[in-house]
Amino acid sequence: MTADQIGLFFGNMKTINSIRSMQRKARELCRRHTIALVPTMGYLHEGHLSLVKKARKAADVVVATIFVNPTQFGPGEDFQRYPRDEKGDRALLRDAGADYLFMPDAQQMYPDGYQTYVETEQLSQALEGAFRPGHFRGVTTVVSKLFNIVRPDAAVFGQKDFQQAVVLKRLVQDLDYPIKLIIAPTRREKDGLAMSSRNAYLGPGQRRQAICLYRGLRRARTLFAEGVTSAARLKKAVRKEILEVCPEAEIQYISFNDFHTLQPRTKVDKDTVCSVAAMVYDVRLIDNMRLG
Ligand code: AMP
Repeated sequence: MTADQIGLFFGNMKTINSIRSMQRKARELCRRHTIALVPTMGYLHEGHLSLVKKARKAADVVVATIFVNPTQFGPGEDFQRYPRDEKGDRALLRDAGADYLFMPDAQQMYPDGYQTYVETEQLSQALEGAFRPGHFRGVTTVVSKLFNIVRPDAAVFGQKDFQQAVVLKRLVQDLDYPIKLIIAPTRREKDGLAMSSRNAYLGPGQRRQAICLYRGLRRARTLFAEGVTSAARLKKAVRKEILEVCPEAEIQYISFNDFHTLQPRTKVDKDTVCSVAAMVYDVRLIDNMRLG
C-alpha cells in the first residue's frame, strides 16, 4: 500500500493548494481510481456535505474544492465579505468523507494577464443572469478550470442553484467533458429555509422572515396540485405569500421554467420549476422547487 492508499483507507484528508500539485495528483489517481469533484465556495453547511456524501458513492476518490471565485461576483456584490472558515470547513469535509481538499488562491487561478473565459450563451441570460450580469461566465469558467485540473469522472452540484445546474449540463455537453453531472436535492433547515452560506448574514428577526421564499414556493406547489396551471395566477399567489411572510422583501423574480431546458412556461406542468429571488433586508436569497 502506498502512503496515499493508506491515507484514503484511514480517512485522512489532504489539502492541496497548488494547481500543479493537484494536476499531478489527479493524473496519478485517475490511473487506478475514479474521481468525483465537489466544487464549493466554503463556509460549508449540511447542503454542501450532502454533495460530498453523494460524491463518495459515485467514485473511489472525492476531491472537494473551496474557492471564492472572484469572477462570478459582480461589482457591489458580497465578494469581499463572503464568509470564510477554513479550519471548520476542513473538519467538516474530512468527517463527510472527502479525500482531498483543493484550495487554490485567486492569483493562481487568475494570474496577471488572464483573459480566457467560457460562456454558455443563452442559458446564462435569464433569471440570475439578468440580475447578476457576468455571473455565469465566472461560474462556467471556474468550473471548466476545475474540470481540467482535477479531471473528475463525476461532479456533484446542488439543485439549490437550479439555473447553474442547467447551464453546467449544457457546458459538459457542448465542450465534450467526459464527466457525469450529479444534481443533489436542496437541503433545508427545519422551517424550510434552503441552507446557504449567505444565511449567516441574516439577523435573528430577518432569519425568521427568510422562510418567505420557501413559503411562496410551497404555495405554488399546493395550487398546482389543486389544478392551477396558469403561470400568471401562480406568480400572483407566490408574490402574495412572500409579502405576507416578509412585507419588506424586494422580489427580483418569480419565474416558471422547464426543469431540463429552462424554457419559460406560461402553462406549468410537473416538470416546471418555480424559481424565486428576493432581497430580504440586505441579503439576496434564491430558492426553487419543482412543481410535480
Ligand atoms: P456554493 O458554496 O454556494 O458555491 O455552493 C457549492 C455547491 O453546493 C453548489 O453546487 C450548490 O448548488 C450546492 N448547494 C448550496 N446550497 C445547497 C443546499 N442547501 N442543498 C444542496 N446543495 C447546495
